[in-house]
Amino acid sequence: MKKTCIVTGGSSGIGLSIVQLFTNKGYQVFNLDLQPSNLEILRGADISCDISNVEQVQNIISNIAKTATIDVLVSNAGIHFSGNIENTSAADLDKVLSINVKGAYAAIKAVLPDMKANKNGAIILMASDQALIAKQNSFAYNISKVALASIAKTTALDYASFNIRANAVCPGTIETPLYHQAINNYCQRSGANKAEVHAEEAALQPLGRLGQPEEVAELVYFLASDKAKFITGSLQVIDGGYTAQ
Ligand code: NAD
Repeated sequence: MKKTCIVTGGSSGIGLSIVQLFTNKGYQVFNLDLQPSNLEILRGADISCDISNVEQVQNIISNIAKTATIDVLVSNAGIHFSGNIENTSAADLDKVLSINVKGAYAAIKAVLPDMKANKNGAIILMASDQALIAKQNSFAYNISKVALASIAKTTALDYASFNIRANAVCPGTIETPLYHQAINNYCQRSGANKAEVHAEEAALQPLGRLGQPEEVAELVYFLASDKAKFITGSLQVIDGGYTAQ
């Protein structure tokens, strides 16, 4: 029987690469996203979902659990918001925390009953290098990613006795639509040139380039696999050396 993996935010960027890799490796994958991926391989397993709506997430995942055993959750959906504390409104902060943090809470809480019953599960949270270091003009996003690292650790401790593992992946700058959106916003505000900012970003990475979503997907796949069965409560950095500086 196929293993089952739920991915949130799997219609774009890193999530899309995760959906593709797990599907290619033989998993049955469900993608919970605001918009469908329209991937032929998903064949109806694109589920329209606002991850910040706890009740909706609960209903969707409990329906999945009626027909499948949930082996893996990749809590990946997230948004970026540029701003320091002064130009982050309370509504902006609420939005970022609702999607990035409450969304992870909702998805994890919903998969736990099935994983506990099966005494098996791997949960991977998509944090960021910003779980380890702060970046300028990233107040709300920084907070949200530190929270995800903590969720990985607390979940790992609370559910180790059920053989449920939880780890956070901490990517550096990965070339996805979210990255391009963040650069566009910055250029609009500052008047900077996008090509120059992009080149500067690459030069900031010790390996001299940005990461690719497929590279993050490979790490997630490893963490979900039995090869990582003694790894839990960890923060896995994949950042081209950025946080080693
Ligand atoms: P992306 O914008 O390309 O994809 C994000 C996906 O999440 C989209 O499909 C979007 O529709 C979905 N989404 C957004 N809000 C949602 C909601 N309320 N409910 C359900 N789905 C929603 O972004 P990405 O760069 O692939 O980022 C994916 C994750 O990786 C995010 O959590 C992000 O913070 C994290 N991350 C990205 C980078 C990077 O440089 N790109 C670095 C570190 C961490």
